[in-house]
Amino acid sequence: MRKIKLVFLPFLALILFSSCIAERAYTENEILMDTVNAITVYSKEEYENIVPAAFDLIREKSNLVDRYSSSSEIFIVNENASSFPVEVSSDVFNLISFALDMSYETDGVFNIAIGPLVDLWKIGTDEARLPGPEEIEEALLLCDYKSIVLDEVNHTVSFLKKGMSIDLGAVAKGWIANEVVSLMKEMGCEKAIVNLGGNVYVIGEKEEGKSWTVGLQNPDLEFGGSYATVDVSDSSVVTSGAYERFFTAEDGTRYHHILDPRTGYPSSSDIQSVSIISADSALADALSTTCFILGVDAAAEICERWGVSAVLLTLDNDIIRL
Ligand code: AMP
Ligand code: MG
Repeated sequence: MRKIKLVFLPFLALILFSSCIAERAYTENEILMDTVNAITVYSKEEYENIVPAAFDLIREKSNLVDRYSSSSEIFIVNENASSFPVEVSSDVFNLISFALDMSYETDGVFNIAIGPLVDLWKIGTDEARLPGPEEIEEALLLCDYKSIVLDEVNHTVSFLKKGMSIDLGAVAKGWIANEVVSLMKEMGCEKAIVNLGGNVYVIGEKEEGKSWTVGLQNPDLEFGGSYATVDVSDSSVVTSGAYERFFTAEDGTRYHHILDPRTGYPSSSDIQSVSIISADSALADALSTTCFILGVDAAAEICERWGVSAVLLTLDNDIIRL
C-alpha cells in the first residue's frame, strides 16, 4: 500500500459560488480517493436519503478501481493479467474499454497503461523522486496500451508483457461522477452539486432559467481564488492542472503528476490548467488530461472533435475559451 499525501482538491481545483437567494443547502463531505468529496443538495429529505446512497456508491465504485487496494479489481488485474486472462465485472470492463479506446484515439497521450511510469515517479506520495533516464526508458516499454487484450465476451483483461499495469487515475473520478449523478437523478434529485476532488458535476439549474457559476481555481492563489468562471447546467466541469500534485526536486525544479508517455517526464505544454465542460464526466476527465499534455493548439482540435467546451489557462496567464 502506498502512502499518499492528501490534498484538498475540491477547494484547490474548483469552487462554486453559492446562490444569492436564501435557499437552505445541505452539504456532506467525506474523504475518499485520497481527496475530499462533497455533495450538496437542497432539501433535508434528499440529504437524509439520497446523499448517503450517493456516498455508498462512491465508496463501492472507488474500491473497484483503486489499484493500490489489494481488494480492487484493478489490483487483481495488474497482479495477474500477464499470466492469465482476468475476469472483471461489467462495470469495470466498460470503464477499461473506454479508457483503452481513449488511449488509441489520442495515440497514447492519454495512456491507460501508464502504471509503471506513475510507480516510478511516485508523485503525490512521500516517496516522490526524480528517476534516472534508464529507469524511465524501461518503464516506458511497459506503458504499452497496445499490449492490453480485452475479451468482450468473457469480460477478461490480459497483458502481453510482464510488469504492465493499468492506472485509471485520469478517468476514474469522471466515471464515478457519471454513476453518482445517474443514481441521484433516478432517486428523484433535480438540483445538486457533486464535487469529487475538484471534478464537479452540477445537476439541474441553480434557479429556474439560471445556470450555476463554477469558479476555476487560479493556480497561483490559495484555494478558493479563481481565474475565471463558467456557467453550466446539468454538466460536469473537470480540471487538470500542474498545481494539483507535484514535488520539488533538490535543484528546485517542480515535477507534477501528469506524465507525457512520449517522454516519460511530467508534461511540459503551454497550458497550466485546463477545464473541460461536458455532460459526460468520464470523457471530460480523459480529455482534460490529454489537453493538458498536448497544449493549446491540440486542445482546440480535441474540443471540436469531441464536441466539448473548455477553458484553458496558458503559461502566459492568457485565458482561452474553446
Ligand atoms: P488528471 O488529474 O485527471 O489529469 O489525472 C492525473 C492522474 O492520471 C495521475 O495522477 C496518474 O495517476 C494518471 N496519469 C498520469 N499521466 C497520465 C497519462 N498520460 N495518461 C493517463 N493517465 C495518466
Ligand atoms: Mg483527467
